[in-house]
Amino acid sequence: MAVIAGRVALDASSVVRCRRRVHLDHDPSAAHGPRAEPDPALEQRRADATAHRAEIGARLAALAGADWVATPDGSVHERERATSAALASGARYVWNAVLPVDGARTGEADLLVRAEDGGYRPVIVVRHRVTDPGAGALTGPFGLPKVELAAPDPARRPRSQSRDQLRLAHLTRMLESIGHATAGPALGGVIGLDADVVLWHDLSAPTWPGGHDTLQEYDARFADRVAVATAAAAGEPALAEPSRITECRRCPWWPTCEAVLADRRDVSLVLRGEDAMALRAAGVGTVAQLAALDPAGEPPVPLGGMPFADAVVLARAFQRGLPLVRRVAEVKVPRADVELDVDMESFSESGAYMWGCLLSTPSGVDLGVPVGYRAFATWEPLPTADEARSFAEFWGWLRELRARCAELGLSFAAYCYNEQAENRWLLASADRFAGHPGIPSRAEVIEFITSDAWIDLFAVVSEWFLCAHGKGLKRIAPAAGFTWHDPDASGENSMRWYRAAVGMDGEPPDPGQRDRLLRYNSDDVHATLTLREWMCSPGLADIPLAAEL
Ligand code: SF4
Repeated sequence: MAVIAGRVALDASSVVRCRRRVHLDHDPSAAHGPRAEPDPALEQRRADATAHRAEIGARLAALAGADWVATPDGSVHERERATSAALASGARYVWNAVLPVDGARTGEADLLVRAEDGGYRPVIVVRHRVTDPGAGALTGPFGLPKVELAAPDPARRPRSQSRDQLRLAHLTRMLESIGHATAGPALGGVIGLDADVVLWHDLSAPTWPGGHDTLQEYDARFADRVAVATAAAAGEPALAEPSRITECRRCPWWPTCEAVLADRRDVSLVLRGEDAMALRAAGVGTVAQLAALDPAGEPPVPLGGMPFADAVVLARAFQRGLPLVRRVAEVKVPRADVELDVDMESFSESGAYMWGCLLSTPSGVDLGVPVGYRAFATWEPLPTADEARSFAEFWGWLRELRARCAELGLSFAAYCYNEQAENRWLLASADRFAGHPGIPSRAEVIEFITSDAWIDLFAVVSEWFLCAHGKGLKRIAPAAGFTWHDPDASGENSMRWYRAAVGMDGEPPDPGQRDRLLRYNSDDVHATLTLREWMCSPGLADIPLAAEL
């Protein structure tokens, strides 16, 4: 999104983005406001998507032969001219197309496919799954992305991806404006991560709330975003205000919005998303107003994210600067004779390059295995087959440790913080490296992660505490007295360190960054150890009870 020669210009992403972001992107007075550093995870996802698109383009080009026209690499204007020429010549497939600016609308299509009437339909290439097992998706063969060959699929159903549908609607409107849209049914194609079929979306099916079809939904959203951007560009009163939502986490404008929200003591600092908007609309726009309500009373509006009483207590905790409030006097944390804190480090979708382990024996038993921290890692840039070696070593060590405990009649527990990430990569590693030496079966991994020995401390914290500033380990462990050695420790920074550690950007690998990552991982597992020991200690009594607020 940008302002081109004094005009508002919006691409397809504008209709799924935060409205305030559209405002800030067009507000000249915001141009010098604070912004977050580029998100390395997002950059990696973009690079992965670009590589996926290039691979799909090459495969399709080989199958289409002389029917394939690709715009040359070059400026947007050169690609736009080449697209116009290809459409005018009636090319069957036009790859890497740029469509002419249409009022405020700008857009690029991975592929334009000629229909039987000579008009075109858009096809986009995405790096996520677009179908699930089931039936009823309209799919056609990958190598012949033509609607005429599509049929209801007995083995797939469409996965809900509204972003894809709105992007196809955007491109359809652009094709219409230059007179190159097909007069036939409004359909757009998607080639997903598996790239085995083309999924066709019917953009005129009433699949949206209120019985809207995708084109109607798109039109309403696009008109709204144009109004927001136009008002911002003209310096008129803002049509969109900041309110904390999930998107804020990765939004470059967060430092700007955070300052405004903190200044206003906005209610979304405690409750984000729809709940904050509903409360604001009901006249509860600040943390103080929420804190003043009776937690036992009727909520001003129904809340979807959490019980109303919890929301009021959170607001009161926020007011007093308390990161944590106990729900109950005594917190229950399962403990064992032999304990292991585990933390995995991954890099985007490329793989899990490190499994860090902190072994401790509160019972004082001699296991014959060194206690303390150790890491199983690969330092070959991901993706690499060496990840299989590293994962197999980790799993073999864990398997032996559990067996040793069982032999000695000792209880064993392994802890992580938010099991979703660890479980995802445990299962994915078993699947991806099946057949490599030492790799466990999927069933063996499932046995472990569903056993009582695998404990998610995030779930423990969620059950026993209310957390006014979030439940991330970096937020919670300091309440237990833990601090990270590296003042810049964060998930985002670890991505940057990883790139340097393995020499991903053309530089030689940096051993200093490797050490930094090991220290970071070691600190994470020491943080979970500190946290759970603290939760079982008398120090917990210093944390106020929710009923006391
Ligand atoms: S930080 Fe949040 S509120 Fe601000 S523009 Fe980004 S997504 Fe919107």
